Amino acid sequence: MISENPVINQILDAYKPIWSVAHASSLMGWDFQTYMPKGGTEERGVADSQLQLLHKELLLGKDFVALVESGKKAEHLSDEEKGIIRMLDRNISRQLKVPKELTEAEALESTVGNMVWREAREKSDFKMYEPHLQNMIAIKKHVANKVGYEKHPYDALLDEFEEGLTVNDLDKVFGVLTPKLQKILKKLVDSGSPFCKESNLTQRYDIQKVDELNRQILGLLQFDMERFRVDVSTHPFTDAMSLNDVRITTRYEGSDFKRSISSTIHEAGHALYHLQCDESLSVTPVEGATSLGLHESQSRFWENIVGKSRPFIQLIAPLIRKQLDFANQATDNDLYLYFNNVKPDYIRVDADEVTYNLHVALRYEIEKKIFGEELAVSEIPQYWNDRMEELLGVSPTEDSQGVLQDTHWSSGLFGYFPTYTLGNLVSAIIASKMQMGLEEYQENIRNGDFTSIKDWLRLKIHRYGSVYAPKPFLRQTFNEDYNPDYFVKYLETKYEAQ
Ligand SMILES: [Zn+2]
Repeated sequence: MISENPVINQILDAYKPIWSVAHASSLMGWDFQTYMPKGGTEERGVADSQLQLLHKELLLGKDFVALVESGKKAEHLSDEEKGIIRMLDRNISRQLKVPKELTEAEALESTVGNMVWREAREKSDFKMYEPHLQNMIAIKKHVANKVGYEKHPYDALLDEFEEGLTVNDLDKVFGVLTPKLQKILKKLVDSGSPFCKESNLTQRYDIQKVDELNRQILGLLQFDMERFRVDVSTHPFTDAMSLNDVRITTRYEGSDFKRSISSTIHEAGHALYHLQCDESLSVTPVEGATSLGLHESQSRFWENIVGKSRPFIQLIAPLIRKQLDFANQATDNDLYLYFNNVKPDYIRVDADEVTYNLHVALRYEIEKKIFGEELAVSEIPQYWNDRMEELLGVSPTEDSQGVLQDTHWSSGLFGYFPTYTLGNLVSAIIASKMQMGLEEYQENIRNGDFTSIKDWLRLKIHRYGSVYAPKPFLRQTFNEDYNPDYFVKYLETKYEAQ
């Protein structure tokens, strides 16, 4: 990008080494989770933390900060230029507010705490992990105080993942969403809906065959393989080294093949956000997604709204029947019900579209209470189990299936969970607006023609990268906020249709 404003050009030039360090870290992170031999862990840890320090030093260097300050005073900036200043100012001020000792304490606790959490989860022993959770929460409370907030300390943590997000916003969201989801779930379970019936397609599979299926499905979505690749890792993720080198991973547990397919489509949705960002934003602070919620809206749109829709299942059904012997007699409807099976259960990552956000609601309530000083760490497991029973009608008997199931808290990620729900809500807003504009939407999916859908996403969302903050972006593009009504309507229509 070349600007007419000399200060912006200076900023973008000075940003290149900062971007490059992040690029290297990103590549190392991808390598760590895919191909690095285990033996390299310790030295990689050294290199990684040194690169992070270097990144911070460059970003907070006097000259660079002064440049950004003069950028803040510049007049007649374009939206892209304002976005660049906004993003840099946000990063710099957050890092300046949190003292070095606190950042180091958090990094240390997340390494040690994460190791203890792993063991505690294996042994299903919350007591073992409790002192570390206590310590991490104490650190995050300090962080929240240093970062600052207007109303609720938790706001300071939410903002890190979703710019401008507050407890006030989320109370409004879950106040509507939670009871409606409970109602939809109850109706499905009580009526013995076909969506709730166990499918005989849930069984062991040949990994090579599902790998082939995943590749065929990505082929249908027509990804540019010159700029994109797929590998395997324990936990699937998307990592964009740049706008022209975007990588996803998938996983093969060996049973229940829909999980591998859904996860591949999910990550492909994330990848598309980067692949369709405007080329002019490359190597600038505004390339890529504007927030975690918006990022997740893209993955969920493809994974669920497209990937689990009837026309999409009809499209991939012949491929599935051909690859998997045990599915060769399955009808399109069998496959549709299999992909959309609803089952209240303990584990968030395995949850269906109806119950998923109830899992998030539970974590949101707990996090809000912790940072509002309404819940002690020792009370979390009991609160968890009781509330699970109320929300989903199931209650885990072991902490490994309850409070110890997610890695987030041990890594200091408080304020992260709600962005999953925001992603779901925004994906439904997008689907609704898109279908109003694209008459052939269903027909195109059935025919495997995704060009108009991809173009729509590129024009309305992807090309802007993070030029706009998520809230103003939703307002100006869709005239909406994180409105849960679209998602509720989407679920009602889908699950009442059977
Ligand atoms: Zn995701």
